[in-house]
Amino acid sequence: MNNKEGYFGNFGGRFVPEALRPPLMELEQAMDTIMQSPAYRDALQDLLVNYAGRETPLTFCPHLSEKLGFRLWLKREDLLHTGAHKINNALGQALLARMMGKTRLIAETGAGQHGVATATAAARLKMDCTVFMGAEDVERQSMNVMRMKLLGAEVVPVDSGSRTLKDAINAALRYWISHQADTLYCFGTAAGPHPFPTLVRQLQSVIGREARAQMLERAGRLPDVVVACVGGGSNAIGMLYPFVEDEDVRLVGVEAGGTGEPGCYNSAPINLGSPGVLHGHVTMLLQDEDGQIQPSHSISAGLDYPGVGPEHSHLAEIGRVHYGVVCDASALNAFQALTRGEGIIPALESSHAVAWVLDHAEELPKGGDVLVNLSGRGDKDLGIVKKYLNI
Ligand SMILES: *Cc1c(COP(=O)(O)O)cnc(C)c1O
Repeated sequence: MNNKEGYFGNFGGRFVPEALRPPLMELEQAMDTIMQSPAYRDALQDLLVNYAGRETPLTFCPHLSEKLGFRLWLKREDLLHTGAHKINNALGQALLARMMGKTRLIAETGAGQHGVATATAAARLKMDCTVFMGAEDVERQSMNVMRMKLLGAEVVPVDSGSRTLKDAINAALRYWISHQADTLYCFGTAAGPHPFPTLVRQLQSVIGREARAQMLERAGRLPDVVVACVGGGSNAIGMLYPFVEDEDVRLVGVEAGGTGEPGCYNSAPINLGSPGVLHGHVTMLLQDEDGQIQPSHSISAGLDYPGVGPEHSHLAEIGRVHYGVVCDASALNAFQALTRGEGIIPALESSHAVAWVLDHAEELPKGGDVLVNLSGRGDKDLGIVKKYLNI
C-alpha cells in the first residue's frame, strides 16, 4: 500500500533533519534483511508466545450480544503481558535492535504505557533503555515512572513546550541524532517518519491475522464490522489491516472526542483536524490556522495525541475505513457496561471502541458479527474512573 518513500496516498513520508536520515535508512534496511530472516522470525515468535502470551483469545460476549441483537466478539489484547497490545511492537523492535547490534533502546511515552512496554522488552533482551517523558506526564503518571525505573530504564523528563508526549517525541528524535551508532529509537505507535508506520503495522498486524482466523474458525464467517480505537493508530492498524482486502467487512476506527462540548479539546484529528507535518510525516493534525499544534485531550491518556498515523489518514481519505468519534462520557458508560455485563474491565482507550458499538447498535446488522479490539486492560485507569464515577 505504500511506495518506497513511505507514502500512503497523500500522507506519510520522511520529513526529518538530514542527520536523522542514516538511522532511518539503516532501520529500513534491517526490515528488509534481518526481519525477513528465520532467526528473527523464530525468536520473535518464541517471545510472543512464551513471554507475552500470544495468541490472545477471541471472547464472545453472550450478555451484551443478547441486548444488542448481534454477536459481539472481543480480541483480548488486554490479556497480554504488561496489559496491552504495545508489547507486540516493543518486543519486535527490541529484538530487531539487538540483531542490528544495538545496545540501547530509546522511547517516548505519554501515559507511560509504551515506556513500560519498551523497558520490559529491554530488560528481557538485556539492553539499556532510556525513556523520554514530558515533565507534566512524569508528575501525572508516577506508577508507570516507578515501573520503568524498577525495570532498569532511565526516565528523562522533558521540560520543553507543553511538557507532554509531543515534546517527548521531539526530544527522543534529537537524542537519536547524536547516538545513532549504538541506539535504536523504539517508536510507540504507527506514526512518525518512514519506516516507523510500516514497521509498527507489520509488528501489530498479528492482532488482525489471529482475529481473522479465529472468526473463521469460531463463527464460520468473517465479521460484518471490525472496530478499534485510534490514538496514534497502532492497535487499530494492526487489527484492521488484515481485513482491508475483505471488501464486505466494514472497518471502523474510533477517535476520542473529549468532553463532547462544542469547541472542546479532543483527540480526533481525522474528524476535526487538517493535513500538516508533525513528527516527521504528513498526516491529519489538530492545528490552528498558523500550523501551531493544538493541545489535545481525552479521558484516556493513551488516545491523547494531536496527530494520527499516516495510513489512517489515507484510509479515511479513500473511504475504506470510517472514523467515528466517541466522547468521554460514552467511553465511561461502555467501561461500565463491559465490566458489569461480561466481567472484563477494559482500558479507557478500548472503551471508546466498545462505546462506538453501543452508540451505533441500531445501525449494525441484526444477527451479524461485530468484532472489537480490546487493546488493553483497565486496571491502570481506576484512579480516573473513581474521580468521574464517585465510587
Ligand atoms: C497506547 C494505547 C492505545 C493507543 O495507541 P494506538 O497506537 O492508537 O493503539 C490504545 N489502547 C491502549 C490500551 C493503549 O495502551
